[in-house]
Amino acid sequence: MKAIALTGYGHENVSLQDVAEPEAGPGEVVVRIKAAALNHLDLFTLSGVLGIEHQWPHPLGADGAGEIETTGDGVKGLKPGTRVMINPAHSCRQCELCRAGEQSECPRFRMLGEHLPGTLAEKVVVPQTNVYPFPEDLSFVEAAALGVTFITAYRMLFTRGQMRPGEWLLITGIGGGLAQSLFQLARPVAGRVFVTSSSQEKLDKALAMGATAGVNYSEEDVGKAIRQKTGKRGVDLVVDSAGGPSIDQALSALRKGGRVVVAGATAGQKAEINVNRLFWNQLSIVGSTMGSDTDVADMLRLVSGSGLRPLIHATYPFEEGAAALAELERQEHFGKLVVEVNP
Ligand SMILES: [Zn+2]
Repeated sequence: MKAIALTGYGHENVSLQDVAEPEAGPGEVVVRIKAAALNHLDLFTLSGVLGIEHQWPHPLGADGAGEIETTGDGVKGLKPGTRVMINPAHSCRQCELCRAGEQSECPRFRMLGEHLPGTLAEKVVVPQTNVYPFPEDLSFVEAAALGVTFITAYRMLFTRGQMRPGEWLLITGIGGGLAQSLFQLARPVAGRVFVTSSSQEKLDKALAMGATAGVNYSEEDVGKAIRQKTGKRGVDLVVDSAGGPSIDQALSALRKGGRVVVAGATAGQKAEINVNRLFWNQLSIVGSTMGSDTDVADMLRLVSGSGLRPLIHATYPFEEGAAALAELERQEHFGKLVVEVNP
């Protein structure tokens, strides 16, 4: 079968090529991929910075949606042809944390496309626990775009962030796919939603979608601007996927007792914070990664019941998957980039 796969690190080593077909072992299903959505994670994997030992060729891609093609021994309730979206997070399902329902805290947590052969392929094999039938009114492209970013956003806001109706929220870096998923899930629930970006165009798009106000972080101090826009109060919750210097800015934008949930470090892995501010204002810094089975199911129920749909910036034919990854690197998009594999 064909896959968008790496034969080394770097964009110059990404191409459409022949790879071995997957087979469903006990408890597993083979999904014939219809659409695969791209994530920043794919760029980390292809750059080689993750320090994982890959075997070449390595198919990229975490997010995907498609149809069940074959099922392994012991698989129940999933028939060939069933339309499913894939939760790209693998966990052992046997340790104490998995058994307590916290699959994303599993010590053997792994991701499709990062540690395991990914979804930018005609077929992928996953445990039956990782596929979720989705409502008829969602397209394959939309269902694929609900993977990494919506699962992560749901857990950041509601499970780790404990967001309550009416709270004031700051989302950093509104250009990114995760930030937009956060916005879409939070907007109907939050009292006010503030956003940051270095691009006025992206701030304007967020305002048109219902953001309360935007802050251009390349021109203004985020903490000062948010305090000024909230009558010195600050926000209840900041959700951040940039890391680096934005953590201290997030802390300075919070009200006393506020919390920041971090699920990424695209702007830097080290952060310097004002410890006085942390303890005096009784702030919380919380990490978050992907989601538990409950987070995934709750997110899907929320999306299907509310009519909410992921923002799609562009779709690409399978043959142009490498070009789509290069487009992702340029960070000029607003919404998800999705590759149609077997349309
Ligand atoms: Zn486990």
